[in-house]
Amino acid sequence: VKLAVIKETKPFERRVALTPDVCKQLIQAGFECIIEKDAGKSSYFEDTSFTSVGASIETNKSALLSSADVVLKVNPLTVEEISHLKKGAVAISFMYAATNQEMVEAAAKQSISAFSVDAIPRISRAQKMDALSSQANLAGYKSVIIGAYHLGKIFPLLMTAAGTIKPAKIVIMGAGVAGLQAIATAKRLGAVVEVSDIRPETKEQVESLGGKFIEVKGDDSIKIEGGYVKGVSEDFLKKQQEVIAKHICEADLVITTALIPGKKAPMLIPEDVVKNMKFGSVVVDMAVEQGGNCACSEFGKTVEKHGVTIVGEPNIPSLLPLNASELYAKNIATFLTHLATKDGFKWELDEEITKGSLIVHNGSILK
Ligand code: NAD
Repeated sequence: VKLAVIKETKPFERRVALTPDVCKQLIQAGFECIIEKDAGKSSYFEDTSFTSVGASIETNKSALLSSADVVLKVNPLTVEEISHLKKGAVAISFMYAATNQEMVEAAAKQSISAFSVDAIPRISRAQKMDALSSQANLAGYKSVIIGAYHLGKIFPLLMTAAGTIKPAKIVIMGAGVAGLQAIATAKRLGAVVEVSDIRPETKEQVESLGGKFIEVKGDDSIKIEGGYVKGVSEDFLKKQQEVIAKHICEADLVITTALIPGKKAPMLIPEDVVKNMKFGSVVVDMAVEQGGNCACSEFGKTVEKHGVTIVGEPNIPSLLPLNASELYAKNIATFLTHLATKDGFKWELDEEITKGSLIVHNGSILK
């Protein structure tokens, strides 16, 4: 089976789908790895580090795509890229099929099989393939570092001859994978951390990391399915905004990670709350790609509004391209070996992981 890794084309994307170490393992398992020239460069993997483990480098992208059995990428394949693939080829990447109809239709038209790593079921057996978690984990860490960079004060308590500095107060909204890593990172740096989430089980998880849980009394409108929030009413969000406003207005740094899969991110910090935030405080809105948790955040920009610095960085994992590529490559290799051996594909269409992640197959759209 011939694997092709193409260079990411999305602006500011610095990750790569396979690293030399993972290529080495796949080559040992009998796969052939071909990497587009410079595909690993922005994550600090040189072409020579791929060739030294037995991979080959290709400069002609369309030739690479048309000869591949499997194309591996981080971001969704473009319609143009798909148009070069041979019938029956396999594409594996983040695809966000629900919001990427154009790509899904192109994949069906080309009769390829498209597996979306963001749709891999989050069951124990699939943990090693869970790229959503591996990337969110790193993003949670980096969000705290970004916040610390913009904040005009330090995180820990510091007692000096010149006086005592109080620890910074950080509020984290959403205690999923990213939020929990943000709590751990902020605690390690010495901050006081408060957290809000609406899944009841998160209280214990937050407390086990040393965070204080902000209690917001839930209501019937909160729908939780398979560990995800599926929806909340506007009334509940209003109530939640009121409870958390006090905490946000006392915070030095607020990190928001709240998401509702397939929907717009919940609005947690309206502009009038930003107006009441401390002068010099910082918001890192990790939900900015899904519309944002803060009314003042702007996609791809760091802005200052009402004396508050608001960071709207959409692709935080890409700011840690080395680790993010390493973990993504391991996720992908585990997933790939679940689907294929060196001699060909072995998947069973009704197996849970395969079924969950297969978006397009034999010209049909499955999701
Ligand atoms: P996510 O990125 O979809 O959402 C982030 C967090 O935002 C979630 O914790 C969610 O509850 C929270 N949120 C939604 N609305 C909110 C609101 N109004 N206020 C505050 N917080 C709000 O979540 P995720 O990190 O992808 O994790 C989702 C679930 O998947 C969790 O239950 C997690 O434990 C589970 N998970 C399971 C596995 C596994 O078993 N293999 C792996 C990873 C995650």
